[in-house]
Amino acid sequence: MSNSSKVDDTISVNTSDTANLITNEEEASTSHFTQLNKSSDIQESGDGSHGVRRRQPVQKIEPGSMNILSAKYESLDYDTCENHLLLDEERKRGYPFVVWKDIARWFIVLLIGVITALIAFTIDICIEEFSKIKYKQLKKSVDTYVLLDELYIPYLLWVLTNICIVFIGSMLVSYVEPVAAGSGIPQVKCYLNGVKVPRVVRIKTLFVKAVGVITAVVGGLAGGKEGPMIHSGAVVAAGISQGKSTTFNKDFKVFQYFREDHEKRDFVSGGAAAGVSAAFGAPIGGVLFSLEEGTSFWNQGLTWRTFFGTVVSTFTLNFALSAYHGHPGELSYPGLLNLGKMEPFPFQFYELPVFMMFGVVGGVLGALWNHINYKLTVFRIRYVGSAWLRVVEACLVAAVSASCGFLMMFLLDDCRPLGEDPTKVPLQLFCADGEYNTLAAIWFQTPEASVRSFLHDPMGSYKPWSLLVFVVVYFLLSTWTFGLAVSSGLFIPNLLTGAAWGRLLAIIIQYMLPGHSINPAKYALVGAAAQLGGVVRMTISLTVIIIETTGQISNALPIIITLVVAKWTGDFFNEGIYDIHIQLAGVPLLPWEPPPLTHNIYASEVMSHPVFTLRTVENVGHIVEILRVVSYNGFPVVDPPLADDAEVTTYKRLRGLIRRDQLIVLLHNKIYNENANTTWSNFNVDMDMFRKEYPRYPSIDKLDIQEWEKTCMIDLRPFMNPSPYTLPHRASLPRLFRLFRALGLRHLPIVNDHNEVVGMVTRKDIARYRVWRHRGHMGMEELLLSSE
Ligand code: ATP
Repeated sequence: MSNSSKVDDTISVNTSDTANLITNEEEASTSHFTQLNKSSDIQESGDGSHGVRRRQPVQKIEPGSMNILSAKYESLDYDTCENHLLLDEERKRGYPFVVWKDIARWFIVLLIGVITALIAFTIDICIEEFSKIKYKQLKKSVDTYVLLDELYIPYLLWVLTNICIVFIGSMLVSYVEPVAAGSGIPQVKCYLNGVKVPRVVRIKTLFVKAVGVITAVVGGLAGGKEGPMIHSGAVVAAGISQGKSTTFNKDFKVFQYFREDHEKRDFVSGGAAAGVSAAFGAPIGGVLFSLEEGTSFWNQGLTWRTFFGTVVSTFTLNFALSAYHGHPGELSYPGLLNLGKMEPFPFQFYELPVFMMFGVVGGVLGALWNHINYKLTVFRIRYVGSAWLRVVEACLVAAVSASCGFLMMFLLDDCRPLGEDPTKVPLQLFCADGEYNTLAAIWFQTPEASVRSFLHDPMGSYKPWSLLVFVVVYFLLSTWTFGLAVSSGLFIPNLLTGAAWGRLLAIIIQYMLPGHSINPAKYALVGAAAQLGGVVRMTISLTVIIIETTGQISNALPIIITLVVAKWTGDFFNEGIYDIHIQLAGVPLLPWEPPPLTHNIYASEVMSHPVFTLRTVENVGHIVEILRVVSYNGFPVVDPPLADDAEVTTYKRLRGLIRRDQLIVLLHNKIYNENANTTWSNFNVDMDMFRKEYPRYPSIDKLDIQEWEKTCMIDLRPFMNPSPYTLPHRASLPRLFRLFRALGLRHLPIVNDHNEVVGMVTRKDIARYRVWRHRGHMGMEELLLSSE
């Protein structure tokens, strides 16, 4: 029998048998399936016989569609493969190795904290210094030309400076590393959920991200550096913990034993937390962020280590920044986002409805922000596809941002006496002597410094009309900016918009209650929290981040109430912005809970069959053929048939599971039975053979397999996972879901009552079932599988 015909036989064998197996279940559940939006994603194919279920990617899908899953995203495998090699290693190295590994883990976390903080420090200083130069020059130009009535010159200078700076960052993002665009939080969230987002944790990405964020903020875009810091922390963690760099093709030959998805994921979640901690000076908020936003698997050891990393990160950044600002040892610069120390604000119980009202406003505005951004993103996907167009768009936004600022300063006459709340770059413009233009002060500094101004300036510092115009303009600018081909986050712009409308509402409340003294800082802070909460829909971590950034635990209750109401209100209309972007990208993300009312969907309906299986001792030619014919990444290993006729009529008993990458490494190293004790022996084959290649394995077409090798055999038993998780064909969808979600599985063989393989389920099979909620309605949809 030729190799290719062997492949066909394997398929056809299982086809006929599976048909019999699933007939009953299918009959039972047909009524349920007709209730679903049963779209054309499940394309029955194969030889046309009844019961063959193989999902083929749908080729033509409307770009920007929300109900797709992209086949290009592979999964990570968080399940440890307990094969013979691993057991051998444990036996040989014993307890000292366990202790050593633990020490190494803590050491790596320490390094992650320090390096993440140093990157944050560099980014912060660059932004601060470049911004200082830029705004000083602009001020000089305005002061000179306002007297000559030639204000168009500083305007053009401003626009040109913005465009040139943003151009550099946008070129880098568009042409060098597109995955560095945006804040990076959605990508990190996907990674921690178990989806491999290509190139997301590379050093090249980190470089583009760091330079990109500096250019975005200095270039005057309505973006922040906090989100990119979280992504940077994740990249640092992935790089250090693996002891090698794919970008530089350099292996430092350290920490090899952490070269597996599970260990790497734990470090990445610690790195993301260290990034949050560096960004906001919020070590506890960092841990909670990792817990709330990403990591689906958590344990006590990880909590401790992550917390250690966040504390180290805050401390290092604190130390470096205070030394830089000439107060070494003072430790008063805890994070990149420094909102300034807030006073505890007293509040009465009758104010709680006011905070809830802020939450509602934040939720509605957040949902609107997300909706506009969603529409813009779809437009970008459809019409702004090419790299140069994306650069042009970024430059256009940079020019519009400067124009908006200039028009506001020029048209809105809002002056304040100098010296009351000194700004670094006071611009007199058309104000009387001894006064400066407040809007110019807001625009001629980084957005972060503007948030501080809105939080701390006294009542009466801004005219309500100026605030209203600022809110509208910045709201629109920030939603346009998020998703551009630049590296920037959305935390700061939303805090800024929220602080502005919070202040505006404070003025209105003051107007309505003239006898009361209203604290504008309180409402500006609550407004900032509400706006951000309405966009990102985070609750616990955001509350703690804001408390830690403002240094006031007593302000916690108003912030919690506001954030919870903002989330509920926003969720009524649409999803959080990160989830919207994840859905647009078609990432097979698994939510926290299985879809409700799905206990009557069975594994036999969800699984793919016939299954491509391999025998415990398999022919090299057959393996090569299978790997070339299909792109699957996991293959159940089954008992060899007892006789030829048995192969045609029965399923095979499950013996283990082997991944594509393991097979590739075996073929690459020619671990054939025939070569045992010549080119390799049991003594020199160990886990390091696989770790050396991790995480990028050669493709099957790159391997040099001679014709004669195809007649050789490989014994898969020492290398396969001998005890993979399995479920019986009658298991329900929620049960499958929980296994995938909690254990971070990649493949799950489905077996019948005799432990024989009848189907295969992967993360994409589960992620296809998605719940939708819209304005109080709820339902479930089945997503399409796109090949792009
Ligand atoms: P991953 O996405 O983790 O890389 P994969 O490439 O093995 O996993 P998917 O791309 O998720 O698999 O699978 C596409 C479809 O192929 C799914 O419907 C899945 O059930 C099916 N499938 C996966 N492995 C096999 C196999 N060995 N035999 C038959 N069908 C399979």
